[in-house]
Amino acid sequence: MVAQVIVDIAHSEVDKIFDYFCTQEVKPGCRVVVPFGNIKIEGFVIGVKEKTDYQKQLKPVLRVMDEVPAITEENLSLMRFMCDKYHIPCALALRQFLPAEMRKGKVREKLVKVAKLNPEIPVLDMLSSIKKNAKAQIGAINYLSDGKVAKIADLNKDYGNAAITKLVSCNYILTEEVRFNRSPYGSVTGEHKDVELVKEQIDTIHSVLTTDKTVTLLYGVTGSGKTEVYLRLIKKTLDEGKTAIMLVPEISLTPQMLTQLRATFKDTAAILHSGLSAGEKFDEWWRLRAGEAKVAVGARSAIFAPLENLGLIIIDEEHDGSYVSDSSPRYDTKDIAEFRAKYNGCKLVLGSATPSVTTYLKAKSGEYNLAVMPERINKKPLPEMIIADMRKEVRRGNNSAFSSVLQEELKKCVESGSQAIIFLNRRGYSQMVVCRECGYVAKCENCDIALNYHSVGNHLKCHYCGATYKMLTACPECGSVHINYVGTGTQKVVNDLKALFPNEKILRMDNDTTSTKEGHYKILSAFGRHEASILVGTQMIAKGHDFPSVTLVGILDADMSLLFADYRSGERTFQLITQVAGRSGRADEKGVVVLQTYQPDNPILKFATTYDYKGFFERENSLRRVTCYPPYSTILRVMIESEEDENALTTLKSVNDKLIELFNKNRDEFLFYNKMKSPIKRLKNKYRYQVLMRIREGNDRLIDEIYKLALPETTSKTLVYIEINPSNLS
Ligand code: ADP
Ligand code: ZN
Ligand code: ZN
Repeated sequence: MVAQVIVDIAHSEVDKIFDYFCTQEVKPGCRVVVPFGNIKIEGFVIGVKEKTDYQKQLKPVLRVMDEVPAITEENLSLMRFMCDKYHIPCALALRQFLPAEMRKGKVREKLVKVAKLNPEIPVLDMLSSIKKNAKAQIGAINYLSDGKVAKIADLNKDYGNAAITKLVSCNYILTEEVRFNRSPYGSVTGEHKDVELVKEQIDTIHSVLTTDKTVTLLYGVTGSGKTEVYLRLIKKTLDEGKTAIMLVPEISLTPQMLTQLRATFKDTAAILHSGLSAGEKFDEWWRLRAGEAKVAVGARSAIFAPLENLGLIIIDEEHDGSYVSDSSPRYDTKDIAEFRAKYNGCKLVLGSATPSVTTYLKAKSGEYNLAVMPERINKKPLPEMIIADMRKEVRRGNNSAFSSVLQEELKKCVESGSQAIIFLNRRGYSQMVVCRECGYVAKCENCDIALNYHSVGNHLKCHYCGATYKMLTACPECGSVHINYVGTGTQKVVNDLKALFPNEKILRMDNDTTSTKEGHYKILSAFGRHEASILVGTQMIAKGHDFPSVTLVGILDADMSLLFADYRSGERTFQLITQVAGRSGRADEKGVVVLQTYQPDNPILKFATTYDYKGFFERENSLRRVTCYPPYSTILRVMIESEEDENALTTLKSVNDKLIELFNKNRDEFLFYNKMKSPIKRLKNKYRYQVLMRIREGNDRLIDEIYKLALPETTSKTLVYIEINPSNLS
């Protein structure tokens, strides 16, 4: 037969189907080894046929690697979808479907040798034939006599190698090799508490199951019991004999979720996570592929879980930025999830307390089904929000990181035996320019987006339209010269806290403290066990934890992400504040949130402090519509990178020559077009240039054409790739 093979080289020049002849039966989805040029290489069989149109002699498949196809039929359809949508080589799509370690056969199943008594020989016969003084042999037989299966290694240890070898040689003990699972988070256990669902939860489940739409947005405030809804939906799916995928932004950041899933689904759940060892990843993947595990839980890449008969997909915290891959292949997890849901005819649930503007708009327009859980379980109040005006603190001479009200609340909190979380918003704000006295932020006149400070040339620049402005020497609003913001690090915050509360134990969680595999989990569990009264951290602690004794959350620099030079900065700020605040007062005690800011009148902060998602959405949505930013347009960045400046420039020119023609023919559809150096001109030893475009919504044809024109300009020396609505324009 003829096997149609995609070779495992992710390069557009060999992104074709090659025919090989195969003397043995081979199924689509199996991996094979084939000769390719002068080398042998792995490939994926994506189809088989009787005859080839190839004129010359076909080369043979050298080896079939899989008995059971590693790649499912659905995978093959998904591959086509991804190749069309993201313009990537087939091999790159296929690679997403397997654990990386499985390629090139690096990881094998871990086998252990086990032993049991030969069931065909009566135990009494065995015992009577053994010498009375062979205590070890008798002991081993007695041990195994009730049908036990034991590891050979353990038997050797307990009864001695000689005795076991003897028993094997007279056929009393039979041995075999079995697969052994390296189970990640093996130590994580928990008990499933059966709660009675509240009405909103029942209604939500009903709505998901009965809607004729594929996608449901579950908008439920923090603490409204979304997790329980997910668990029930998964359970129902399993009861129907189907499988489920549940995505969370970062599994190690959500120990409660892990505990609950393990407690509810035991070994039926497989945890896929980037921190796993190669062996653990392989085992979990295999358990799913073999149908032993039926629920896949994990971050972004778990959307590719090799489950058949899929009955449900859940994406928790759907607004989270981690669902969009920012390195090749650049895919949006929601696209993949929608594809899989439609392919399998199953439901997709997107859950969030702060849905992204794009998703909520789809729910409002009727494309998605909308389920709302507007209150916390048992009508527990959302925490009270106190705004601390840091301009006043500065004027009062308080230059510490803590406002007086936060200091007071902290004191009250720890004295009553409760716990507090101090949150620092530390993402890339050093480039932003703020007045520390009045809160003024330097923004682009064309885009209403915060400007970035560039030390080279000492100027301010808008990353979206390229406009440059002179660096300010004084605030245009109040004349103050305190116009450069210098941020505080977590370490300094911890030191300041220690000075204020010398008797309290304080935990810190950021990238520096969590380099080890289960580091996040350890710190969060320690805090959960009340081993410290204050937890200080960055973005990592904003996610969905449920610490019942936290009654105070302090947000040190609530406005910092407003300054992020991104059209989504308002959205991000609203989400972040709501999420962090949601950690407070989840149990019996009332919660308090102190929000420190230099811009107390900022509308985004107002909406966040009053929990007004709808108000936030309306404002943000109309702003996007007026300024023509996504979802009312698509931002497209063609990146050109090369180690040699000259090569990059040559490619930039040829890319631009092609695109400018397209631009000239479709001027009405383009809101912006410019070629320029990237804001970071050199990164990881590569010169970087870009063509930045903004295109009116609903122009998939144009976007497709841009891909087709730009990507082939990649050369052996220069890389060309495209980013859609990138979250980082550096
Ligand atoms: P969310 O994910 O919406 O923030 P959770 O699922 O974490 O909320 O639920 C908040 C708390 O309410 C948890 O402690 C959870 O165990 C509890 N809970 C959820 N559903 C119920 C219920 N029906 N009855 C009682 N408690 C519940
Ligand atoms: Zn000012
Ligand atoms: Zn601009």
